Amino acid sequence: MVSVAPSPFPSLETALKHFFGYDQFRLHQRAVIEAVLAQRDALVVMPTGGGKSLCYQLPALLRLGVTVVVSPLIALMQDQVDALVNNGIAATYLNSSLDGMTVRSRQADLLEGRTKLLYLSPERLLSENFWPFLTQLHQRVGIAGFAIDEAHCVSEWGHDFRPEYRQLHRLRTAFPSVAVLALTATATERVRHDIVQQLQLQRAEVLVASFNRPNLYYEVRSKTRQSYGDLLTQVQGLEGSGIIYCLSRKRVDEVAARLQQDGVAALPYHAGLSDTQRTEHQHRFIRDDVRVMVATVAFGMGINKPDVRLVVHYDLPRTLEGYYQESGRSGRDGEPAHCTVYFSYADVSTINYLIEQKPDPQEQNIARQQLRQVIDYAESTVCRRQIQLAYFGETLTAGCDRCDNCRYPRPQEDWTVEAQKFLSCVARCRERFGMVHIIDVLRGSRKKRIRDLGHDQLSTYGIGQERSAEQWKLLGRSLLHQGLVEETTDGFPVLQLNAASWQVLRKQLTVQVAIPEDLAGGEAQVDAVPSADQSTLLGQLKSLRKQLADAQGVAPYMVFTETSLRQMAQRLPRTQQTFSQISGVGSRKLAQYGHTFIDLITQFCTERGIPDAATHQTTQATAIRSTQSKATAPGHTHALTLDLYRQGHSLAEIAEQRDLRTSTILRHLVELIDAGTVVDINPIVSVAEQEEIARAIAQVDSGRLSEIHAHLQGTYTYDQIRLVRSTYRLRGE
Ligand code: ADP
Ligand code: ZN
Repeated sequence: MVSVAPSPFPSLETALKHFFGYDQFRLHQRAVIEAVLAQRDALVVMPTGGGKSLCYQLPALLRLGVTVVVSPLIALMQDQVDALVNNGIAATYLNSSLDGMTVRSRQADLLEGRTKLLYLSPERLLSENFWPFLTQLHQRVGIAGFAIDEAHCVSEWGHDFRPEYRQLHRLRTAFPSVAVLALTATATERVRHDIVQQLQLQRAEVLVASFNRPNLYYEVRSKTRQSYGDLLTQVQGLEGSGIIYCLSRKRVDEVAARLQQDGVAALPYHAGLSDTQRTEHQHRFIRDDVRVMVATVAFGMGINKPDVRLVVHYDLPRTLEGYYQESGRSGRDGEPAHCTVYFSYADVSTINYLIEQKPDPQEQNIARQQLRQVIDYAESTVCRRQIQLAYFGETLTAGCDRCDNCRYPRPQEDWTVEAQKFLSCVARCRERFGMVHIIDVLRGSRKKRIRDLGHDQLSTYGIGQERSAEQWKLLGRSLLHQGLVEETTDGFPVLQLNAASWQVLRKQLTVQVAIPEDLAGGEAQVDAVPSADQSTLLGQLKSLRKQLADAQGVAPYMVFTETSLRQMAQRLPRTQQTFSQISGVGSRKLAQYGHTFIDLITQFCTERGIPDAATHQTTQATAIRSTQSKATAPGHTHALTLDLYRQGHSLAEIAEQRDLRTSTILRHLVELIDAGTVVDINPIVSVAEQEEIARAIAQVDSGRLSEIHAHLQGTYTYDQIRLVRSTYRLRGE
C-alpha cells in the first residue's frame, strides 16, 4: 500500500521551494496536489504554461513508491526527465528509443525503489510484455499514482486523437486502488467529459483554470508587400526565441531561407523533412542554438520551451482553437510574449481552396465555419482576448490592454451612404455576382465583361469612384460580418441581399465600419526596458547558462529559466542566501550553480562599482525602482502623448484629442520620465513651484507621496508632486 512519506517539510510551500525553487503555487496547483496526495482521481485543465507538470511531480516526491507518467511525446521525454534530474529528482523514462541493456538497467533501478518518476509512452505501457513488469513494480515498491498527460488524446472530439489512449482504462481495472490524474490544455467541455468517461475516473475532482493568458500580447497586422520587412524587424528586435507558422512546406522553406539570408539564425520544420532533420532542428531550437523556427503546425505540440517570446502566424491560422494553442506556445514562463497574425484575404482564398479539396461535404462545412471564426477574429475591432475566451465559453468583462484593439482602438466611421450604394448595386446586378464584380461596377470599370453584360448601363455604374477598390472591399467584408449582406457558400461566392440589407437600403439601419490603422512596427520591443547595465548583465548570464547547459548536454532553460536570470540581473544577489531567494533556485540548483552565477554577478558589480544591495539601501531602491518601471514600460500610447505634448498642447487638450482622462495623460508623462525620457515639465509646474516641492521631498524622510503632500499642506496635487519627484530623480538630484 502506498502512503505519504513522513515528510521533512512543514508545508507544501517549503517542499515547492526546496525541489523547484518557487515560492508560491499557481492557481489550482495546490488543490490538485492535495487531491493527488489524498489519492483521489482528478482532471486538471490548464492552458499551456499553466504549470500542469508540477501537479504530479511534487506529490511524486512526497509519497512512497513510483509515480507513472504517461505521455505521448516520446521526443520530449528525455527533456522532461533531464529537467527533473537537474533539480536533483530521480526520474527516468522507458520508450522505444532505448536499447535492451538500458531498459533492463532502468527497470532494475525501478524495482530497487531508486526512482520516483517514470515516464512512459502509451504504447509501451500497454504492450503485453510490459504489463508483468508493472505488476511486479506495484508489488515491490508500489505505484503511487498514474498521471495521464495530454489526456485529450483519448477523445475523438479533441484535435489530437490517439487510438492507443483508448486502452488506458485498463489501468483502472488492473490497479483499482491507484489514483489517476488526467491533465490537458484542451478547453472544450465535450473533450473534458470524454476524458472522465474514457479513463473511468471515479468521483474525479475537476479543476479548470482560466484560459486567459495575461502575459501574451495579441495583435493582427494586415499582410501587404511590406510584411516580410515588418516580420524581419520583429524578429531582429526579438530577445529570445520565436516561432513563425506558415501554411505550407513551401512557404516554410521560403521564409526560413529569406531570414537566413538576412542574417537571422532560423531553421525550417515541416513534415517534408526527414525524421532525423526534424529532431535535429527541434533540438537546436530547444538548446538555443537557433533563435527562430519557421514551421508548419506540425511543429510545437508538446514543445516545453518556456521562453518563446514571439509566435507569428505569417499565414492565417485555420481555426481559432488551433490559433489559441499555437500562439499559446509562447510565454509559458509567464513573462511577456507577443503573438502576431498577418492577415490577408488572399490567405482566405488559399484556405478555402484547401477546404474544397476535402472529400467529405460535412467536413468542408465545419472547416468553413471555423475559417469564418478566424476571419471574424482577425477583422474584429473588439478585444482579441475577449473573442478567444468567448470561444472557450469564458467571459472577460473588461478589455485587456494587452491586445492591439484595446491599446489602439480603431475609429468607427459612418459608411451608411456607401453601404446603400453597394447594396443597391448588388440588387441592380440581380444578386448574381460576386464582390469583385460589384466593386468594378461601382468604380466604373471599363472591363469588357462589364460592357458585354450591359452593366455600364446600370444606374449604379460609376457611383463609387470616390473610394478605392480596397475601401469597397473593406466595406463589403464588414457588411458580410455584420450580417448586412449574404454570400453563397457553394464554392462560387455570389452576393445576395437579406432582410437587413433592405433595412439599410430603406434607411432604417446605419452602418459603422472600423477603419484599420496600419500598426506596423513598434510594440514588440516595448514589453520590457531594462537599464543598460541590466541588459548587459542579462546577456552575460545567458552566455554562462548556455555554456553550462552545453557542457551537460541539456537545454539552457533547464539550468535556469529566463525569469530566474532576469531576477538575478535586477536584484544582483551576491551571497548564497540572497541567491537562494531567486525564483527557480531550489536547493539542488543553489548547490550546483550558485557559486558560478554569484561569481559572475560579483565581478560585474565590482567592475562597475555597484555596492551590494544587502548592505546599501540605495541600490535596493534602484533595484526596486527598475522593477517598477518595467511593469509600466511606456509604449505606443505614451509616444502619442509625448508627441502631442512636445507640440505644445496642454494636458487637457491632449486628453480631449485622445479621448482619455487628463490624469491618464499625466501618468503617461510620469512613466516616461521614470523610464528615462526627458520631459520639460515647466509648462505644468512652474520653476518656483518645482523648487518648493523639491524642498518638501528632501525634507520628508519616508519619501512617501502622502507625507510630502501633507508637508506641503495640500497646496499641490499628487500629480504635480509625482512629476517633480520623477524629474528630479531622473536628473539625479
Ligand atoms: P504546462 O505543462 O501546464 O504547459 P509546465 O508544467 O511546463 O506547464 O510549466 C510551465 C512553466 O511554469 C515551467 O517553466 C514551470 O517550471 C513553471 N512553473 C510551474 N509552477 C510554477 C510555480 N508555482 N511558480 C513559478 N513557476 C512555475
Ligand atoms: Zn484586449
